[in-house]
Amino acid sequence: MDAQIPYKVMFLTGTRADFGKLKTLMLRLQADERFQVHVFVTGMHMLAKFGSTWDEVRKAGLPNLYRFINQNESDSMDQVLAKTIAGLSDYVKEMTPDMIVVHGDRVEALAGSLVGSLNNIRVAHIEGGEVSGTIDELIRHAVSKTSHLHFVANEVAMQRLLQLGESEESIHIIGSPDVDVMNSSDLPTLGEVKHYYDIGFSSYAVLLFHPVTTELKHIRQQVDVLIDEVLESGQNFVVLYPNNDHGTEIILEAYERLRNHPRIALYPSMRFEYFLTLLRNAHYILGNSSSGIREAPHFGVPAINLGSRQNNRVSTETVINAPLTREGIRQAIALAEKTPRIARELFGNGNSATAFHQILLEPAIWNADIQKSFIDRTPESSRTGVRQTGGVK
Ligand code: UDP
Repeated sequence: MDAQIPYKVMFLTGTRADFGKLKTLMLRLQADERFQVHVFVTGMHMLAKFGSTWDEVRKAGLPNLYRFINQNESDSMDQVLAKTIAGLSDYVKEMTPDMIVVHGDRVEALAGSLVGSLNNIRVAHIEGGEVSGTIDELIRHAVSKTSHLHFVANEVAMQRLLQLGESEESIHIIGSPDVDVMNSSDLPTLGEVKHYYDIGFSSYAVLLFHPVTTELKHIRQQVDVLIDEVLESGQNFVVLYPNNDHGTEIILEAYERLRNHPRIALYPSMRFEYFLTLLRNAHYILGNSSSGIREAPHFGVPAINLGSRQNNRVSTETVINAPLTREGIRQAIALAEKTPRIARELFGNGNSATAFHQILLEPAIWNADIQKSFIDRTPESSRTGVRQTGGVK
């Protein structure tokens, strides 16, 4: 049966990384009585060690929250995937959403798209069609293939989804929803951020470094080199914990050297809006976070992008790619200090929530066939040249 108004839209959030982007979309739909918004909160949000960020979701003023703990410390990412699928599957049977909205490239998003697809629930994927390194690269495309609708950041992302065999009608360019927040005039001031997090300096760089799951053997050496250079630089740093991918323990253990250091302020996580203000006022950001590639260029803040995690992503003149060696990092820091601030609008103009809302008001979205077909764009000759084995001569 076709979905009826009010449409029940269930968002899945598993980390600070997706919540910052999904929040504007959630709030926009919630303000329209033709939609009923539900939020499945899981993943890192539920872990005290990573700052219990589920509380940020609650504070955002979203009423229909369901909290689900999908992991313990000893779980590997495949186990987290399995547990999320199990919990979400039970949940959707109870609340029967008309649509599941997932973001990005985390295992929780993959759980969301699989549970939706396997239960004939429409799945919308936000910010597919990107490329990167680490396991995220595989997960992101798998989420796209198990989603029915795509809301992408730009034309390039759209072209990549077309390459994956997705139909043109299923892809909508809305920009990156975090641009809505970055362009907002409501961001806190640096003074408010310093006060809220008790940061004792105004001149600083930001460090945000995640494990690359396919380079586990090298992480300890990578992070030790990084810390050596951070301390050697003589600068103040605001350091944020990594995400909870395989290898995160190694980074956290090494970060003990930074704890209680007078020039270091170390936090599990910051509220998105606060983090953006911090970033906007930083000398530069160092590490391998997507925010160095996506958000820093938007503000014109120099970013030192280390190693392979953001491989193949869009680069601009304010992004300095560097190897994870002492010399490489030292040179990159010197360069970042001299790099002029040039802001670039690469991922939309801050209108994503409005565009998303308008598209979801189109009846065609809710009536479209849930069965997907691969749109074959291989040349005619290779499609008709299929060879038979055995049989007909
Ligand atoms: N972020 C945040 N608070 C923090 C650190 C990061 O809100 O303390 C945001 C950041 O602005 C970005 C997102 O989380 O939009 C993802 O950053 P992260 O480096 O955690 O993950 P990645 O996207 O690189 O996997």
